[in-house]
Amino acid sequence: MPNGPRYSPPVDLSRYAWLSIAAAAVTIVLKGGAAALTGSVSLLSDALESVVNLVAAVLALVMLKISIRPPDDNHRFGHSKAEYFSAAVEGAMVLVAAILIIWEAVGRLVHPRMPEQLGIGLAISAVAALVNGAVGLLLIRRGAQMRSATLSADGRHLMTDVVTSVAVLAGVGLVALTGRPLLDPIVAIVAGANIVRIGIGLVRSSVDGLMDIALPAELEARLMGVLETHRGEEVDFHAVRTRESGNRRFMEFHLLVPDEWSVKAGHDLAEDIVDELREIEPDLRVTVHTEPLHDARSYEDIEI
Ligand SMILES: [Zn+2]
Ligand SMILES: [Zn+2]
Repeated sequence: MPNGPRYSPPVDLSRYAWLSIAAAAVTIVLKGGAAALTGSVSLLSDALESVVNLVAAVLALVMLKISIRPPDDNHRFGHSKAEYFSAAVEGAMVLVAAILIIWEAVGRLVHPRMPEQLGIGLAISAVAALVNGAVGLLLIRRGAQMRSATLSADGRHLMTDVVTSVAVLAGVGLVALTGRPLLDPIVAIVAGANIVRIGIGLVRSSVDGLMDIALPAELEARLMGVLETHRGEEVDFHAVRTRESGNRRFMEFHLLVPDEWSVKAGHDLAEDIVDELREIEPDLRVTVHTEPLHDARSYEDIEI
């Protein structure tokens, strides 16, 4: 009798994207106001970051909606890789923002200008940093729990904004204390360089996912351990492969059993092994190809 489907569909994470859209909108207003009030290029660079956040959050919302769509006629494995596009585009946009910031700051190095009303500007920016920090921490925690590349990327992105904001606040504070306007663009350039570093990291982790990266080594070792407990005189395995795809994890292998076993006996063993594997990783999707142990053709298909 059927027990219902073995694999449960991925969960809808789009409400977290709405949260980062709201956070981006609030911080754009706050940081933009602070930059306009003071005329500081480093506060402007901080505000520009939030505009990137808004675009990225909208994109993440679209991608999260796509990634939970069930498999259809031309995407038989589902749509979970859509998340990697979001993370990659977000990384690319972070890079563009950083280059704009550095460009603006270099101009100020040549033509220094003293920012005004720094006290109020600093206070407003500090509030914006607190908003980003709270939302960023939440997204990182949920992203790890749900193994969502989009949420994790978004959360890490927001945390770098907080680091940038704190650095900018310290720099602008020094400008106010010392009365030296050159510190303003210097801080903006250092902040921009840090943003470049983060953007490259985001792009790289997305590319890993798009390239079918294997499951984490520690998890893969535990899954292999399950197979080892079944390996013996009668039973063998080969062509074991794992890969990660957004919020889904896949494993496939060939199960070699005695030539005279019935289809039922081979299938029973395969299903038992799959159950054991999924006890270790409940989200694992496993495909088993069962073959006779003493047949040359069983060994012709080991390579992909
Ligand atoms: Zn089956
Ligand atoms: Zn084989």
